[in-house]
Amino acid sequence: MLKDQDRIFTNLYGMHERSLAGAKARGHWDGTAGLIEKGRDWIIQTMKDSGLRGRGGAGFPTGLKWSFMPKESDGRPAYLVINADESEPGTCKDREIMRHDPHTLIEGALIASFAMNAHTCYIYLRGEYIREREALQAAIDECYDKGLLGRNAAGSGWDFDVFLHHGAGAYICGEETALIESLEGKKGMPRMKPPFPAGAGLYGCPTTVNNVESIAVVPTILRRGADWFAGFGRQNNAGTKLFAISGHVSNPCVVEEAMSIGFEELIEKHCGGIRGGWDNLLAVIPGGSSVPCVRGENMRGAIMDFDYLRGELGSGLGTAAVIVMDKQTDIIKAIWRLSKFYKHESCGQCTPCREGTGWMMRVMDRLVKGEAELEEIDMLWDVTKQVEGHTICALGDAAAWPIQGLIKNFREEIEDRIKAQKTGRMGAMAAE
Ligand code: SF4
Repeated sequence: MLKDQDRIFTNLYGMHERSLAGAKARGHWDGTAGLIEKGRDWIIQTMKDSGLRGRGGAGFPTGLKWSFMPKESDGRPAYLVINADESEPGTCKDREIMRHDPHTLIEGALIASFAMNAHTCYIYLRGEYIREREALQAAIDECYDKGLLGRNAAGSGWDFDVFLHHGAGAYICGEETALIESLEGKKGMPRMKPPFPAGAGLYGCPTTVNNVESIAVVPTILRRGADWFAGFGRQNNAGTKLFAISGHVSNPCVVEEAMSIGFEELIEKHCGGIRGGWDNLLAVIPGGSSVPCVRGENMRGAIMDFDYLRGELGSGLGTAAVIVMDKQTDIIKAIWRLSKFYKHESCGQCTPCREGTGWMMRVMDRLVKGEAELEEIDMLWDVTKQVEGHTICALGDAAAWPIQGLIKNFREEIEDRIKAQKTGRMGAMAAE
């Protein structure tokens, strides 16, 4: 289990002061100017050496992403945009940072922006995060008052401004190019890539979009060293990580743990076990709603990191939003609910996603009730394959994967329901 002295987020539960004084007492904003003085190359190299992979879901190495930004300006400004849209069902970790430990994010924003030659950072917040915006704005105001933001921020010689921007509640604005469009005042629709944001992002200028957690861990990594951070987790899966565990555990929670912790240890130590005991575990979605579910018995020995969940279980760590479902769950209905979500959130720009999400949801509608033919299971699988990888952004994949996970892991349950419907043995719950 991660020791308290190794936690980056020391106020995750709001038990202490979230003000600047409180943050400083916990070691934040300590020697920030000194870190900046070490220069861009040192910061980016340290981030690379730390092995930090982006915490927004894709797991792309953060230091490498930063290195794609132009070293010298061609006259255009550069921007850091922080993705605080956090709309993936099951995911609620960045929320805790913003409302209880906002200074970790603001200090990280200053250092990361300096490393990428940006004088301006926008934080794009999910529309529903009203209280989080208030907490963040209060922290930003405090920083301006104390000279940590603005001209010569924190005495570093670097001029730096942070602006908050509130989204209007569209899931797709969590996709980095849709987020940029929305920030520019347009409809939140993903852009074709290339060009990538590092070449032409916000207002056509070099831009890096990073997740809240990825930025908030930066100052502590630089202060404690790349080796310290790289010392947690397996190779290529370094660091500490916020896990957000929801569903049928005794105590759902958000907790910072070492990467590569075992699934059973995570649930036993922090969540008080599975409701009704381990034999009652049906399925787990280990990384937020867009990754495939895994059967409970296969999850028990799982290692919670990017490579294990993808390579061994065909799922993913995603945002580390762990959704636990026990045997009281109607798994077909649970995945149907996700299909409905993705259909609703498709921006409609590309045909496979616009039409496919609707098709998939309508077949799922009937599978929940068992009002389908057995052959339709394979037809549904085919539709998911037509959508997967054939769209502008990853929403198409996100809509396809949960259904693929369902068919792969719970085909028998789907078939049983269809057969029960045909023979009139339909259970009351599924027929609702
Ligand atoms: Fe829009 Fe879906 Fe295409 Fe993404 S995949 S651009 S959400 S239609």
